[in-house]
Amino acid sequence: MNHGLVPKPEAVVSVFDHGFLYGDGIYETMRAYEGVLFMLDNHLSRLFRSASMIRLSIPKDRDQIKSALYDTLKANSLRNAFVRLTVSRGRGPIGLDPDLCSEPTFIIITEQMKDYPRSYYQHGIRTIIAETRRNSKEAINPQIKSLNFLNNILAKIEAKERDAYESLMLNTNGHLTEGTISNVFLYKDRVLCTPSLSCGILDGITRGVVLDLAVKEGLHVKEGEFSKEDIYMAHEVFITNSTTEVMPVSTVDEVQFPVGEVTKLLHRAYQEEVRAYVSRTKGEGPSVWGYE
Ligand code: PLP
Repeated sequence: MNHGLVPKPEAVVSVFDHGFLYGDGIYETMRAYEGVLFMLDNHLSRLFRSASMIRLSIPKDRDQIKSALYDTLKANSLRNAFVRLTVSRGRGPIGLDPDLCSEPTFIIITEQMKDYPRSYYQHGIRTIIAETRRNSKEAINPQIKSLNFLNNILAKIEAKERDAYESLMLNTNGHLTEGTISNVFLYKDRVLCTPSLSCGILDGITRGVVLDLAVKEGLHVKEGEFSKEDIYMAHEVFITNSTTEVMPVSTVDEVQFPVGEVTKLLHRAYQEEVRAYVSRTKGEGPSVWGYE
């Protein structure tokens, strides 16, 4: 927390923190494999972009953040981990003005990575199209990975009420955007489709890796505008994020999908990419930051 390691019971923030009072802050979620933070530079670039979009000045530079991340993994003896980095506006009097807060609150949480149930990958997960629309990018741009998550939480509540694991959200034009914590892909007529950034989505790091791998595998790829009907008519559907990787979807509302060959191919390719990244980066990451 802020300037050093703190035992979990003492890791508390002020009731006057504007992250708590207003959701004023940003975050990143990453995954460490064998002690290496996958795609760390991309996560840090997105963190700094989110910060600049809310005019927040992060009190550390990239190297200081990398060092803090690896110190936290090391202190917790973790090699395969879930890592969350949060930067809030900080503590200040009540009021929306960001200048009320003199110093941002900087927090890293690491937890042992718990594997998702194998059945999720074998059979896919249930999803719904939520009634809740994704925040329009002219209101709160989904490219800001912000602490302000009620839009996604409302959609998650709908999913739970309908016995689904994830909600997919449309934008106010009725085009597919993304899940509450994931990007979405559909495979149809030999084309791998995913909503374009202009639909109002977070440019997921996993989404980017999967798109590159799909091209390398010789698949036709299309980023564009897709409707509810497009997804119902798809042959395969899957979601992506940094912790779940590539997760097949078995149902969208009442429509069922098989766990198809393209989904399996891309998940295998993703895991190979992780392995290659880990062996390529070992010398530049953990050992440089004293974690080896
Ligand atoms: N979309 C939303 C709304 C998310 O919250 C996330 C991740 O948490 C993603 C997409 C996937 O992003 P990434 O692949 O960078 O984890």
